[in-house]
Amino acid sequence: MSLSLYIHIPFCKRKCPYCDFYSIGYDRELAVEYVNDLSEQIKKINYRIRTVHIGGGTPTVLEPVLLRKLLDALSKILKRSRENTVEVNPESLTREKLDLFRNYGLNRISIGVQSINDDKLKFLGRLHDSRQALTAVQNSRKAGFRNISVDLIYGLPGESLKNWKSEIKEISRLPVKHISCYSLGCEPGTRFYKFKKRISDQEVAGMYIFNMRFLPERGFFQYEVSNFSFKTFESLHNLNYWQGGDYLGLGPSAASFLKGERLKNIADIKEYLKRIRDKKDYISYRERLNPLKRAKEFAALSIRTKKGINVLDFKRKTGFDFFRVQEKAQLEKFKDKGLIKLSKKDNIIHKIFLTEKGFLFCDEVSSEFI
Ligand code: SF4
Repeated sequence: MSLSLYIHIPFCKRKCPYCDFYSIGYDRELAVEYVNDLSEQIKKINYRIRTVHIGGGTPTVLEPVLLRKLLDALSKILKRSRENTVEVNPESLTREKLDLFRNYGLNRISIGVQSINDDKLKFLGRLHDSRQALTAVQNSRKAGFRNISVDLIYGLPGESLKNWKSEIKEISRLPVKHISCYSLGCEPGTRFYKFKKRISDQEVAGMYIFNMRFLPERGFFQYEVSNFSFKTFESLHNLNYWQGGDYLGLGPSAASFLKGERLKNIADIKEYLKRIRDKKDYISYRERLNPLKRAKEFAALSIRTKKGINVLDFKRKTGFDFFRVQEKAQLEKFKDKGLIKLSKKDNIIHKIFLTEKGFLFCDEVSSEFI
């Protein structure tokens, strides 16, 4: 069985006020113990790995000696897998770390740029400024990375469409092949929840529509709700998630999907390490999906991609006839609202995909498939 491997590095220099990923402040002693432990777990992996994604948290808070230890343990896997990504933050990305990543076969770098506007970066509580963000992109290119991705955030309280347009235009001129654009979430439980009411849905929708129309003109084609890339530079790792593939997540809070079972590791690094030491179960959530639920989830994930749902592919992957899983009447409703398109061949529906308007209401549509 081949699958994707995700490794969570749950440390950050400082917590960003909008972030709801699991991470804690950097603690060297804990990091040493964690990397040792991860290395042992990695050596025991008995699957064929197609993609590796080292994420977080902030993998680049680890010192070179710890990164080397982790990459040493991963080296056999990295040699055989097709896409190896590391997430990096501009303020902690050094030449030494870049060379290390290249030498160990990481072939994709995902930079947490978030913005190249200093006021926005300050508001977001980021530790880098625009100069450092641009330097990180240039240095990654110089170090030999061809597949560079940047993460961006838009839709901050008071941010105007005009400013966003000029920012994204500048970003599109950088030597990057992939752009992930996320609107500011302001999730409950984060310090930014209080800003939720100050964000104009209309303004954010305008920015999103601009992304969808402008980025393809610059060669970045949309292939998922928030993701745009040059042809052949789509993230294979993320495509595997959206195509219902299997994946293994290592580290606290990491999720796995293995042979129809969904698992989530406990989101507490000390407890995670303790349970591993005591040879106890560190899974905090476990659910075996029955075939019908699996098929519905597959539909809900596929509709988020630009290609949408291919009815024949759906049958081949899930064993279900798509129209037995999803009522035609509901599809017609979405179609009448202009959210989806049904493409027909010989008068038979063979593809269902979101329209431009549909991408704006993607969560609403995809939740109907579950
Ligand atoms: S650096 Fe990334 S993972 Fe860490 S707190 Fe900020 S957004 Fe979250």
